[in-house]
Amino acid sequence: MGDRFFPNEFPDFVAETEEITQTATATDPLLKLLSLPYHKTAESFLRRAIDLKDKIVKETWLRTGGRVKDFTLYTGSLGTAYLLFKAYQVTNNKSDLNLCIEIVRACEHASRDSGHVTFICGRAGVCALGAVAAKQAGDQPLLNQYLSQFKKIQLPEGIPNELLYGRSGYLWACFLLNRYIGERTIPSSQTGVITKRIIKDGIQLSDGRCPLMYEWHGKKYWGAAHGLAGIMHVLMEMELKPDEQELVKGTLRYMIHNRFPSGNYRSSEDSEADRLVHWCHGAPGIALTLAKAAKVFQDEELLKAAGDAQEVVWNRGLLKRVGICHGVSGNAYVFLSLYQLTDNIEFLYRAKAFACFLLDRADNLTREGKMHGGDRPYSLFEGSGGMASLFFDMINPNEARFPGYEL
Ligand SMILES: [Zn+2]
Repeated sequence: MGDRFFPNEFPDFVAETEEITQTATATDPLLKLLSLPYHKTAESFLRRAIDLKDKIVKETWLRTGGRVKDFTLYTGSLGTAYLLFKAYQVTNNKSDLNLCIEIVRACEHASRDSGHVTFICGRAGVCALGAVAAKQAGDQPLLNQYLSQFKKIQLPEGIPNELLYGRSGYLWACFLLNRYIGERTIPSSQTGVITKRIIKDGIQLSDGRCPLMYEWHGKKYWGAAHGLAGIMHVLMEMELKPDEQELVKGTLRYMIHNRFPSGNYRSSEDSEADRLVHWCHGAPGIALTLAKAAKVFQDEELLKAAGDAQEVVWNRGLLKRVGICHGVSGNAYVFLSLYQLTDNIEFLYRAKAFACFLLDRADNLTREGKMHGGDRPYSLFEGSGGMASLFFDMINPNEARFPGYEL
């Protein structure tokens, strides 16, 4: 277990101070970064975010001559476009927005024959981000074009229900459009039909212990990427009827009551290996879903469980990878989410600690082979794209959102 993550040797809390030359902290650059006033650390985050963004554009777009091999948000070009959009939101640099639009256009072309329909791995992500960026640029014809392409996406009958390739991943894109383009861009009559189908499938596969259950490739996953946490996260975006709310709450309670003694969550129903502390599998993705549930249902048990899952991430989440799917960057979003929910400054400190660790050490550790930069090293979910996303989100921590998960 110990080789998956670095031991967390951060103090429980370091108060910020204007005095940056304290002898106690001056020798360790990481502790020094942590003790700086937030606005000063944020300057470092912003500088590194912009540098990383430029490097990622160079490697994934300029160097390939604008050719798109993998269009997805997860490991492909749409991830670069997403990062540019986030950069634009923080810096207001119009050229980032323009390049975002250019890359989405190439992704649109590359995804025309794709059978995948979700935000993170499919065509809905391309059309939805294209529409949101077009709206931001004030380009109504382009916005209409993406919306009409989005509405042509058909969900195959045999599609799963999970987030990366299934119905909930398509629904997430619908909710993004409704949030950024206008409330009824995708009417609730349409999203409602899909929601009902997800709930019906979940009841059908339930064995009575957990009210909703799903399978992906024959396994009953629990995590955000392929399992219960991701599906529940999306269902909570809908206005659920009281009985549907009870199904979602009951499913989350089942997971809480059957978590590992360590507080971590199993990756699937029959897994006994308490190893993964990832967004995709394990406590981090589930913590984000529990935080959302605590807010939506105003429920103390769910809030307590979100805090407990967050504690696992603090102790075992300093992973030897940089990305957001199964890396330090993704795990830092757990603390940001809890901070937004509770206003407790100690959660912001924890996010800052993980982000400072990346800022100060990730490059060297990766160079020395002690940390993995990702199979697709510039991608949003596995590579430095996720780290850049986190650094941009650290500028306005109240506005931070885990890409493709938190709306
Ligand atoms: Zn992962």
